[in-house]
Amino acid sequence: MISQVYWIDGHIDLASIAVRGRDILTQSENAQEACITIPNLLDSPIRTFFGTIYTTFTNGSFGFDSSNDREGAHRAGLEQLAVYDKLVEDGHLTKQMHGLTVDDDLSMLLVLEGADPIRNPDEVKWWRDQGLRAVGLTWSDGTRYAGGNRSLGPITDEGKELVSALDEAGIVHDVSHLADEGVEQLFDIAKGPIIASHSNSRLLLNSDSQRNLSDDLAKELLSRGGVIGLNLCTQFLAEPFDRETHTATIEDCVTHVLHFCALAGNNNQVALGSDFDGGFTPKYLPIGIKHPSALDALTSALKSAGFTEDELHSFAHGAWERVFNSVEC
Ligand SMILES: [Zn+2]
Repeated sequence: MISQVYWIDGHIDLASIAVRGRDILTQSENAQEACITIPNLLDSPIRTFFGTIYTTFTNGSFGFDSSNDREGAHRAGLEQLAVYDKLVEDGHLTKQMHGLTVDDDLSMLLVLEGADPIRNPDEVKWWRDQGLRAVGLTWSDGTRYAGGNRSLGPITDEGKELVSALDEAGIVHDVSHLADEGVEQLFDIAKGPIIASHSNSRLLLNSDSQRNLSDDLAKELLSRGGVIGLNLCTQFLAEPFDRETHTATIEDCVTHVLHFCALAGNNNQVALGSDFDGGFTPKYLPIGIKHPSALDALTSALKSAGFTEDELHSFAHGAWERVFNSVEC
């Protein structure tokens, strides 16, 4: 029997789900369609989550169709920021502004998935005042700051300025969705901690896509004390790389976790970055973890794989806490 532990989830797109029309204050009625709302989270062991502001110009889905539309991207970011601020105002959760700890009460860390809403590097301080704690420079299709895992390409000159501004503000760098070239640049120029909030092992997927981490990049990130968050989307867990023909299992999750632990040389630098409902329905979650309330199944499997009680706590929350408590801001 494993004692109840609270979890920190390193990636939930709650605000973008809300602006696309979900009532996030009501239990989701159809478990096949959705598993993330505030009541659903409270039914689970997750008490703290990285709440993303997720934007991209792709398909104009967020009201801007180019990364150079700084005002449009900024508006899209503010719309999602307002979702979180309203949840705070109405007492549903708190925003963790410094350090990181998980307890009984629901809380979030504000993060950006794609940095387009930051109009220019001078604006970083304002964003930090809103609670911004981690930034991924880009989603898959790139931004004016960096190439993404689909568009490829380097961190641009303006992106390098942004990286310095983020360091100055004590904001953590997130490489999930950044093209390999940019990840390598970031290793050279970033001063603060580097995480991969929701990425798995590219090698285990037998894939060329830069969406998940190569062993070389994962090893470098881990050697610098970074943390990798396990993504629960089937297509990032199981071979073949096709979520329509195959559903991942808890064993697949454990395989990815153990792979990164082997690269790290310890069991304390992998955590959860679920991406629950982030562009995929619960159908594409692993068998046995179709809802965040089922996360203890993952803990049990890691225990069977040899994780100690301390290592289980690290996976559930401690690894994320260590990274964000190491930042001075
Ligand atoms: Zn993502």
